[in-house]
Amino acid sequence: MAKHDYYEVLGVPRSASVDDIKKAYRQLAMKYHPDRNPGDKQAEEKFKEAAEAYEVLGDAEKRQRYNQFGHDGLRGTNFHEYTDINDIFSSFGDIFGGFGGRTIFDEMFGAAQRGQRRATQEGQPGSDLRVRLALTLEEIATGAEKKIKVKRQKKCDVCNGSGAKSSAGRTSCPQCNGTGELRQVSRSMFGQFVNISTCPTCDGEGRIIKEPCTNCFGEGRTHGESTIKVNVPAGVSEGNYLTLQGQGNAGKRSGSTGDLIVVIEEEEHEHFRRNGNDIIYDLFISFPMAALGGEITVPTLNGKAKLTIEPGTPSGRMLRMRERGIPHLNSYGRGDQLVRVNIWVPSRLTSKEKELLRQLNNAEHMTPSEEEQRNSKSFFDKMKDAFS
Ligand SMILES: [Zn+2]
Ligand SMILES: [Zn+2]
Repeated sequence: MAKHDYYEVLGVPRSASVDDIKKAYRQLAMKYHPDRNPGDKQAEEKFKEAAEAYEVLGDAEKRQRYNQFGHDGLRGTNFHEYTDINDIFSSFGDIFGGFGGRTIFDEMFGAAQRGQRRATQEGQPGSDLRVRLALTLEEIATGAEKKIKVKRQKKCDVCNGSGAKSSAGRTSCPQCNGTGELRQVSRSMFGQFVNISTCPTCDGEGRIIKEPCTNCFGEGRTHGESTIKVNVPAGVSEGNYLTLQGQGNAGKRSGSTGDLIVVIEEEEHEHFRRNGNDIIYDLFISFPMAALGGEITVPTLNGKAKLTIEPGTPSGRMLRMRERGIPHLNSYGRGDQLVRVNIWVPSRLTSKEKELLRQLNNAEHMTPSEEEQRNSKSFFDKMKDAFS
């Protein structure tokens, strides 16, 4: 393949300064980077060609030989043609931020591809974290202070989040002069446009790290576990969430910290079922208790309480214990505890008990009259409608 003039390849005049050559190469390398042009052979060729041109023109001695003797002048020097793209990364990575190697290179291009990100003078923000927090109904009723363990990224305490080994290890980005953004002025027949993009060298941070912190490898954060106190207000429900600002993952290199989002879960209760802010309790009483009435003890969210059963309480009746439910989250007051009365029918009986029940069954009021049958039916229908 006929070789192109290296100055033409980079698009710079023969009098170009070292900086101009570097800049021109960087632009071409970004344009034809294989990650941006996957499978494009032509782009790959241009990428290699630019690297070759930069290797020569970026080196004072080689440039001089080239100026004097052209391509032939390079024979016998340590010049080599690039056949493997990875060679380019290992040779020239240094102009992309001081590290060399493919990783930094990729990170840089990856960041550029993410497109417009707001330019900040800080590092990249950390992500939000979501954790589930299971609460008992009792905890929901009173509100709770819980401690939860969260695996999250924390600010590196060796470099205090800067990512640099020392304060001197972090310098203003030379490409954007510390602004974090690049302005490109272009002219067209419609006038002049200023295109602002995130600086790819520093990813909008305005600073680059020359010497990374050895504890966090320049990230400014490390993996860790934290115990976080969460104050849950009374009255929350399943699916509610609390946002703890600044308790999520630490950002890269002092970037802002994400939030911790705590999603509330309700544990199943051995006695109660929640219905809005009311709680429902199924009570089983004997037939004599239902017929004669009496006092009985029932559990509440706040210990045991006494409940009076009126004589002649039918199965299915709902008894309301006021203000024994869950507090309203955003207003005063609280729900009730609803006690649903069920008549307990025993399945194990002694012969004596059986005899007593047989006598009872023949007594005058044990079987409902037609009218009582009708009334009972309408009572059940009413209960069903109210609590379905
Ligand atoms: Zn560090
Ligand atoms: Zn920059």
